[in-house]
Amino acid sequence: MTDTPLDFGDPEDLERLRHDFRAWLVDHPLPERPADEPLPVFLHRWHRQLHSGGWVGLDVPEQYGGRGLTALHQVTVSDELGARGVPGVPRIGYLAHALLRFGSEEQRRRLLPRMLSGDDVWCQGFSEPGAGSDLAGMSTYAERHPEGHYIVNGQKLWTSYAQYSGLCLLLARTDRAAPAHTSISAFVLPLDRPGVTVRPLRAANGDDEFCELFLDDVRLEESERIGAEGDGWPLAMTTVAYERNALDTGHLSKYGLLIERLRRAAHERRGTLPDGLLSDIGRCAVDYQVLVAHARRRTAERLAGQSAGPESSVDKLLMTRAEQRLYETALKVFPEELYGEGGEVLGDYFYARAASVYGGTSQIQRNIIAKRLLGLPADRHA
Ligand SMILES: Cc1cc2nc3c(=O)[nH]c(=O)nc-3n(C[C@H](O)[C@H](O)[C@H](O)COP(=O)(O)OP(=O)(O)OC[C@H]3O[C@@H](n4cnc5c(N)ncnc54)[C@H](O)[C@@H]3O)c2cc1C
Repeated sequence: MTDTPLDFGDPEDLERLRHDFRAWLVDHPLPERPADEPLPVFLHRWHRQLHSGGWVGLDVPEQYGGRGLTALHQVTVSDELGARGVPGVPRIGYLAHALLRFGSEEQRRRLLPRMLSGDDVWCQGFSEPGAGSDLAGMSTYAERHPEGHYIVNGQKLWTSYAQYSGLCLLLARTDRAAPAHTSISAFVLPLDRPGVTVRPLRAANGDDEFCELFLDDVRLEESERIGAEGDGWPLAMTTVAYERNALDTGHLSKYGLLIERLRRAAHERRGTLPDGLLSDIGRCAVDYQVLVAHARRRTAERLAGQSAGPESSVDKLLMTRAEQRLYETALKVFPEELYGEGGEVLGDYFYARAASVYGGTSQIQRNIIAKRLLGLPADRHA
């Protein structure tokens, strides 16, 4: 751990880590993906491979299956992966942080090592048909029985890759009378529990990322609740805040690669690219630098022991803007990628459209910034 928020620790140590990781990657490259292998299955194999080398959960304490290093070590690994254009460390960091902060000692010891190794695959059951942005309005209800267990009824929606998961971080109301933000609790839900139905939804692009989750009289034990009753709201806020750091997700170095490609194209096709497009490339480069500065700041704060908070909404907005502009510009500069085999830029372009929705929509991020960071009065219509 470092003394000041701007001290990024011993660079030699990080250089060594980077060097070791690069060497490991030479011997353990990204495996081939058979044409018929679903993406989550492929990514799970990659997750296990990375874990076998000790490259998952670097910032998780050793007693919970991690390496007990810092956030910067984990970010360095994500950065290296992104810079090679290969999938990042599986996006479990935000779930791990929620468990570290709210789980009991027994839960951390039992659940975290299996989460990090990929023995347990998790999904996130927050959104509902009537409660996406307005999570506080969720209606899934976990009724506590005198014997101590809960019976859960309700429906979740947009649960990514639930059909490939064994466990779900579930939010449910445990008190119908209390104010919304103190009446939601979090649970570990095994998806093979009687009463759970997982129904994949096929999206317009053919992907089956999303699922509906139906919960009919599902029994959960008290030991399956994470944190105290009512901790579900702060746990959810911790989870989504950690979903928003572009460095964590390895997105930054991936953007960096594409910006470099755009920069080269601007040089090579000087005089033929329209001025407007050159300005767009310039804006992308500026977006990227702003994002780098923010991501570094968040990482520094985390190194100093601060938890992610409402500031992460600024990061999410910046990331969304940077990502959407970048892929829009890339498609204009490389229109052949619209039609080419593989069409990686096109795939990323489409997924970038979802960035203003997942993890909280852009409007909701602006509301959080207005209310919690700027202290502005509530919307008169709210
Ligand atoms: C790729 C992807 C993956 C996802 N994965 C998961 C997952 O694994 N688990 C999970 O639980 N959820 C997941 N989601 C769901 C996501 O969290 C919700 O879609 C998101 O929170 C928005 O909720 P909603 O879709 O119900 O839209 P709504 O809340 O109905 O919003 C509709 C529109 O109204 C606007 N709006 C709503 N309220 C306000 C307000 N108060 N002020 C201003 N504007 C407002 C919104 O910004 C939006 O434009 C995923 C979504 C996507 C796109």
